[in-house]
Amino acid sequence: MSHRILIIADHLDGALNESTARTAACAQQIAPGAIDVLVLADDGAAIAAEAARIDGVTTVRHADNPANAHPTAAVFAPQIVAAVEQGQYSHVLGPNTTFGKDLMPRVAALLGAPMVTDIMAVHGPHEFDRPIYAGNAVTTVAAPADHVLVASVRCASYPAASTDNQATVEQITLDVELPSHTRFIGLEQQTSDRPDLQTAPKVVSGGRGVGSEDNFRIIYDFADKIGAAVGASRAAVDAGYVPNDMQVGQTGKIISPALYICFGISGAIQHLAGIKDAGTIVAINKDEEAPIFEIADIGLVGDLFEIIPELERAVG
Ligand SMILES: Cc1cc2nc3c(=O)[nH]c(=O)nc-3n(C[C@H](O)[C@H](O)[C@H](O)COP(=O)(O)OP(=O)(O)OC[C@H]3O[C@@H](n4cnc5c(N)ncnc54)[C@H](O)[C@@H]3O)c2cc1C
Repeated sequence: MSHRILIIADHLDGALNESTARTAACAQQIAPGAIDVLVLADDGAAIAAEAARIDGVTTVRHADNPANAHPTAAVFAPQIVAAVEQGQYSHVLGPNTTFGKDLMPRVAALLGAPMVTDIMAVHGPHEFDRPIYAGNAVTTVAAPADHVLVASVRCASYPAASTDNQATVEQITLDVELPSHTRFIGLEQQTSDRPDLQTAPKVVSGGRGVGSEDNFRIIYDFADKIGAAVGASRAAVDAGYVPNDMQVGQTGKIISPALYICFGISGAIQHLAGIKDAGTIVAINKDEEAPIFEIADIGLVGDLFEIIPELERAVG
């Protein structure tokens, strides 16, 4: 079977998520020159045009349907199966974002295909590295070569492909009976003017050591001062200091900022699983024995409430 990859575009509110370009960077290592993108939307022309700029993409296909106005996995999956059969693809790739985690297993199930989750390195068209044990070990897995392969890509492991391309854009029709058992009711999401946690080059995080929801203001203010996104440990989320979409770690967001500064976070393995690909890690903790110092590039032992004002003065 020759290799042809279909990437499922991750988009919301008319904007393409950067995770699509990161997935494309992985796809280029699997089958360069044979990468298409599928945009499922109610009116996908603008999103498709954005996807067409991603380097390495040959064709962007958009299937417009009012049923695709919201990313409902149960509605998208059978259409993806039809697109895979139409295009004779060997691989179907999606990002391991909330969107991809929900969608890709359904696609694999409907195709009766094997699935590899969280690809972090490519050894060949059917051989990949993926993390196990909360990112504490890496395993190399091989998928059968005689079958379509469904996979999700660990976005933190791939920088976004650049966007100097001009791929072909075409509208397609996917003649599929859509399920009626699942329908979109509403989307509740935090809106913020701060950079997106998953793609920001700088992230400032707070943990249980911050102490309260009110105290978290000092973390937000410092983040705003240096133009960073804000994250948190699970303990801070569970204590109600911050909403759970800010959680970084094994059961939260996996991120790869160039700079990660964490205040009052002890460094549990489940938290570290989320920052393995971060560039420079700066840890501030009043306990010099805290495990976070074992992985931090720069560690400051002290009270975060004294250190933050000092840092603020230093950055002006
Ligand atoms: C299945 C599973 C999945 C999990 N997933 C995640 C996950 O995705 N993300 C995650 O983060 N955790 C996760 N956890 C929880 C994880 O094990 C830890 O409990 C959690 O990360 C601890 O958060 P913390 O570091 O904020 O709190 P703590 O471990 O309580 O650490 C607080 C730190 O703050 C320091 N401190 C206190 N006051 C100050 C001060 N004034 N100045 C400076 N430092 C101070 C203390 O010295 C301490 O080191 C998971 C656990 C399980 C079992």
